[in-house]
Amino acid sequence: MKPFHSRTKIVATLGPASAKPDVLLSMFNAGLDVCRLNFSHGSQADHQEVLDTIRAINKKHNYNVGILADLQGPKIRIGIVKDGGIHLVNGSRTIITTKECIGNEERIYITYTSFPKDVKPGEIILLDDGKLQMRVIETNYEDEVVCEVVHGGILTSRKGVNLPNTKVSIPSLTVEDRKNLEFVLENDVDWIGLSFVRNAADIIELKDIIKQRGKGARVIAKIEKPEAIDNIDEIIAVSDGIMVARGDLGVEMPMEEVPLLQKMIVQKCIAASKPVIIATQMLESMITTPRPTRAEVNDVANSVLDGADAVMLSGETSVGEFPLIVIETMQKIIQNIETNNYPFHVEKALKADSETFLSDAICDSACILASRTNAVGIVSMTVSGYTAFEISAHRPKALTYIFTNNRQLLNTLSLVWGVQAFFYDKFESTDETILDVNSLLVKMKLIKKGDTLINTAAIPMESKGKTNMVKVTVID
Ligand code: PGA
Ligand code: MN
Repeated sequence: MKPFHSRTKIVATLGPASAKPDVLLSMFNAGLDVCRLNFSHGSQADHQEVLDTIRAINKKHNYNVGILADLQGPKIRIGIVKDGGIHLVNGSRTIITTKECIGNEERIYITYTSFPKDVKPGEIILLDDGKLQMRVIETNYEDEVVCEVVHGGILTSRKGVNLPNTKVSIPSLTVEDRKNLEFVLENDVDWIGLSFVRNAADIIELKDIIKQRGKGARVIAKIEKPEAIDNIDEIIAVSDGIMVARGDLGVEMPMEEVPLLQKMIVQKCIAASKPVIIATQMLESMITTPRPTRAEVNDVANSVLDGADAVMLSGETSVGEFPLIVIETMQKIIQNIETNNYPFHVEKALKADSETFLSDAICDSACILASRTNAVGIVSMTVSGYTAFEISAHRPKALTYIFTNNRQLLNTLSLVWGVQAFFYDKFESTDETILDVNSLLVKMKLIKKGDTLINTAAIPMESKGKTNMVKVTVID
């Protein structure tokens, strides 16, 4: 069993810096909960090796570290440029073309074939995370767009392009995404992230494919476009989780809006009982230094205080020099907030017209009882995982122990705030099962004699219905 570190979980992107078995094991032991594989980089063979390494460690140590496969989506890039970098000067003009070429100061290739048709004069083009900016002067509606450099600088090969004002017509799942999707489904990953989601239909399409393949992977919508903000309620409703992808979001939207957007999205996700990840540049300076900036420490701490299920690392752990120190640092920041001043016990409105109203009311009552009795744990059984997501969304101070016979769910729940999950398949009578799971927790030294626990269950046990019972137990 992996040692418990904190209720707020850590997601880390793996790459050359971290994908070795010994480094990875030390990162797991330091508090890493979910590994992110970024399909914007690396070959399937590279990813296969990493997947196998994670699985081998999980198996050997009986860990449930989850896997999030992140699909690139309709990300736009420029092509290769000459000499590895070109200098764009303010006020000069450059043609952006859909005909493949080695780029220079006069002409740059873009991977987005309908760009000349979709773009309008006056629209803004941002390059390399917004470091360079151009403005569209004219388009021939076929293969060339004339642009003026607004903020120049050095532009290197394959940099990302953001078009905050343009209605991009590229499909949400590209040909490459579809290939990678088949690959990650074959590998039974737990979570699939989709980049540049614009509306609920993008997510529904992905979920339909997963269902057709008979797989249990759940879907995270990455919120990084203005359209996604406009459609946030419908996107949250159809997704299994959300990522506040601040890297692209802060380029596509005015960056000063991102802090409040983050808070708004977290609150909506908690209200909908969907896990939410805060991503990008959390400890960015640690790519090259072993100590973060004070501002970064504040950012991680404030994301925990906002109520995020998980905080995410990107370059810090994929290509950075200090992947283990990064996890240790993030873990210390989270723990300090959780032990000293965490806003536990979120008030959640119950919807009387919801299909799940009664089990939601049980989860709500379990959390209230846990708080009233100073219980150390809430113990539940679930097959679908529903109860785990619902209890977690109340952000109870008591730890949430989930017993399930659904093996994939063990890894899935590693992303979810406060939840520790265990495999269990002996569902007998309610009384016996409750005694049994509680005694397993004692054996694992997670609870001890004299502790108060809240147990929930679905009775009668054999019917495997929805949670409908809550009980206070004192361990003797
Ligand atoms: P990315 O997504 O790292 O795949 O770009 C995260 C973000 O944009 O913040
Ligand atoms: Mn992004």
